[in-house]
Amino acid sequence: MNQKTMKALVCFLGILIAFSTVSAASAVQIQTIYSGTGGDITKNKLGYKNIPKSTISSQVIASAKKGTPMVTFGDGSGPKVMIVAGVHGNELPATIAAMKLINYLNGKHIKGTVYIVPFVSPYSTSKSTRYWKGKNLNSVANKAGTPTNKIITLAKQLKVKSLGDFHSTRPGGVPGKNSILCTKSPTYGSYKMAYYISKKSGSALIYEYRAGVSYPGAVEDVSNLARIPAVTCEVKSSHGTIASGSVSKSYSQMLAFLMYNGVI
Ligand SMILES: [Zn+2]
Repeated sequence: MNQKTMKALVCFLGILIAFSTVSAASAVQIQTIYSGTGGDITKNKLGYKNIPKSTISSQVIASAKKGTPMVTFGDGSGPKVMIVAGVHGNELPATIAAMKLINYLNGKHIKGTVYIVPFVSPYSTSKSTRYWKGKNLNSVANKAGTPTNKIITLAKQLKVKSLGDFHSTRPGGVPGKNSILCTKSPTYGSYKMAYYISKKSGSALIYEYRAGVSYPGAVEDVSNLARIPAVTCEVKSSHGTIASGSVSKSYSQMLAFLMYNGVI
């Protein structure tokens, strides 16, 4: 092989490697992680109207008819993080922000792996109801067999390094303001992450000392007790509505979560 051929070969291999790296980073997968929660998202007229119209949105909505959908970006390498929305079916802003994020990340190069569950209970979102089968899903994440427990189990199996659970809170409710909730013990990383997201997104920082005391079955608490640093991010919006600016606030909390974890 002469020098010229060698150079050409090296160049070709370089392009091949670069190309395969890009395609690996933009890999996307949609799967159903829990059946029995399925619902038609398009039935929630207000919510659906605000979801970006695209092929990936249609695929997620189709998957949501079968149960809880999870969208994976990345090839399993790098930091792995999980974003959850729609634990409460009457909290629309975070589910829409999650769908915007799915559209933003689609085809984008990221430094890690992002798992997004945009509707924990598509059935509840389709009806804009808070509970699923009479259950507050943010109080049963510690009970085997529930959709939120499945999320925690999966986060452990996938070796997720951080988890963000995104909600909305009605004015006058608890906490009733744009805020990031966390605990300091046993997983101090929850507090550190909440501090960053709070500063970056202009949301109040609310912390308690120990996970599992005030909200034993909350996704955030059960995750923190399992040593996966977790936060609950809230935006102010009445139940079943989308307050002005609430979707972009929830979206900025999600971006801050990804930035803190070095994914974007
Ligand atoms: Zn909620």
